[in-house]
Amino acid sequence: MITKDKVLLSLRGVREPKFQKDFTQMNLVDVKVNENKVSLKIYLREDVFDQKDEIEKKVRNKINLAFGDQVADLQVEFIKVPDYSDVRKRIKLEVLDESKAKLGRVIAITSGKGGVGKSTVSINLAVALRDLGYRIGLLDADIYGPSIPTAFGLEGHILEIKDEKIQPIEKMGLKMVSIGFMIPEVDTPLIWRGPMLHKAINEMVNEVEWGDLDYLVVDLPPGTGDAILSLNNSVKIDGAIVVSTAQKVAAADVMKNINMLRTLSIPIIGIIQNMSYVECPCGERIYLWGKDGVIQLANKYEIEFLGEIPFIPSVVESMETGNFITLSEQAKIVFREISEKIINRLDVIAGLKRGG
Ligand code: ADP
Ligand code: MG
Repeated sequence: MITKDKVLLSLRGVREPKFQKDFTQMNLVDVKVNENKVSLKIYLREDVFDQKDEIEKKVRNKINLAFGDQVADLQVEFIKVPDYSDVRKRIKLEVLDESKAKLGRVIAITSGKGGVGKSTVSINLAVALRDLGYRIGLLDADIYGPSIPTAFGLEGHILEIKDEKIQPIEKMGLKMVSIGFMIPEVDTPLIWRGPMLHKAINEMVNEVEWGDLDYLVVDLPPGTGDAILSLNNSVKIDGAIVVSTAQKVAAADVMKNINMLRTLSIPIIGIIQNMSYVECPCGERIYLWGKDGVIQLANKYEIEFLGEIPFIPSVVESMETGNFITLSEQAKIVFREISEKIINRLDVIAGLKRGG
């Protein structure tokens, strides 16, 4: 069913040319839905009114991507205004929560246990999404072993506060916050307990000047601890990704992880099999822990299998040198394909697209 809020969500990314913010966030779109007919009124300032055709093209494209044939008729009308102040007051968006809209979609990266590549996936996914043109925030909530400071060469960095807002660090086009920037000494995290952790996670989500994001990728600590509960209480998680290796022994941990997500009603985007195989120079793939352990789990729990990431030496390097430019073409392609699947799945979860 086409609804007003789905239409508004689908228009995310279409920006007002003067202010470079989404029309929907600026409350400049009036939506009317009548079964399969959609009509939009878009308010546009006179000094940028000549860009309306271009904007209309983008709008039609977005609606088409989200709804395809479901929309039988789409009317787009532009209304010229001298300034936006009156319009914005008048159009109140009931459904789209302003602060949540700013964060974009929140993706939690989870795993049953540590060392399976959760941080590697988080960071490379953030970079791949950035390469697809999205505005990305990366939140490292792993109190036991924050990875962002090392991976981006930012050890010892402390977050600044400006106008009562925490300023994220910007590097390589990503906005980042790490629990490692909040508590610099390596062994401090051990004394952190529930309430402090909860406060820190809530602050990293809600007190950071994220600006406008399309996706916020959250690297969580392993297992079924407090961090995901805190995150879940701080913001609506649009979907979680489960990262695992293929060993049989990993299965029990993965199962607990999946059960926890289901208990919290967090939609599961899918599962990734990491460090799947090594490619020998002769071209043969050597599977380190059996070929399809994770696929079997995915089938058993009816979860989307998002793909496998080989053991890629340049990935290790990029994590340790703090320089992602070293990422090999092979690694980039793998992460791009997985990112595209994730975007697609999130649209399905949000009800913007039909499918499995
Ligand atoms: P986690 O966050 O789950 O504890 P990490 O992302 O820190 O795991 O990964 C653990 C180690 O494995 C790191 O040294 C990382 O560089 C390495 N690693 C993870 N995934 C890959 C991969 N696909 N190819 C090569 N090395 C990897
Ligand atoms: Mg980690």
